[in-house]
Amino acid sequence: MNAWQGAVLREMGLAPLWRLRTGKPAAEAEAAPATAEPSRPTSATSAAFATSAAARASISPSPGSPPSPPPRAQIPRPPAIQAAAPPPVSAPAAPMIDAERAARIATLDWTQLEEEIRHCRACPLCERRQQAVPGVGDHAAQWMFVGEGPGAEEDQRGEPFVGQAGRLLDNMLAAIGLKRGENVYIANAVKCRPPHNRTPAEAEIAACQPFLERQIALVAPRLLIALGRPASQALVGRELNIGAARGKRFERKEIAVVVTYHPAYLLRNPQDKGKVWEDLCFARQVMKTETGQGA
Ligand code: SF4
Repeated sequence: MNAWQGAVLREMGLAPLWRLRTGKPAAEAEAAPATAEPSRPTSATSAAFATSAAARASISPSPGSPPSPPPRAQIPRPPAIQAAAPPPVSAPAAPMIDAERAARIATLDWTQLEEEIRHCRACPLCERRQQAVPGVGDHAAQWMFVGEGPGAEEDQRGEPFVGQAGRLLDNMLAAIGLKRGENVYIANAVKCRPPHNRTPAEAEIAACQPFLERQIALVAPRLLIALGRPASQALVGRELNIGAARGKRFERKEIAVVVTYHPAYLLRNPQDKGKVWEDLCFARQVMKTETGQGA
């Protein structure tokens, strides 16, 4: 962590929570929020996001492993930008995608788009939702974060990333000098809650894709950050192993895409907080390159 990063964390009351790895990392089993996501081996000491007292309690290290600051030499460094292999030419449309519907959605303004999402019944996820959750944030943001789908609290409140995972996302944003709603837009791959927080089916992601496409077109971000595997599939157009895709720059219609773990995964696997910190540093590096501010 350089002096700037340290200052940001200290300034926001996010004193880093350090955790020394003593062996092979525990098996990762992500599914943002419920699927398995294989891990990428690392021997680096992990910097962790310390958060509010509540969030800290939820992501505290396991008993017997009290946090202790590591030597500077062990702080993870952001990896160099590595271009990922280009995605295949657009995957064949899933049956639920109606070209006419997609073309119409592509013409909607923000008000029309959110209204359409709230009344959408294009896939079975509409049946058990309390409400659809369109997205939130700055409509002209440079940063756009895309998650998987609403959870129970999001379904109740109509806003993405509220609750414990949302608080962790807010702390992730703060760690790189960002704040929800300020130059940041947040959306999900599917706008309605999958029952029991299951991973959305491919066809459900495909049915919701025109909404995400339109959100991206309207926001026109400089960088897309996929949180978890379903989001990366929605953005990159093919299934990615998050562990293998981390630290690479993908592209979607000339917009840079990077991937990292979903905050819900991180809540279950706090030992990987250091990896997400690395990914955020990498994202910031990509953003600097995209905006011509140097890396
Ligand atoms: S998840 Fe998307 S496509 Fe499915 S009903 Fe909700 S808004 Fe429509």
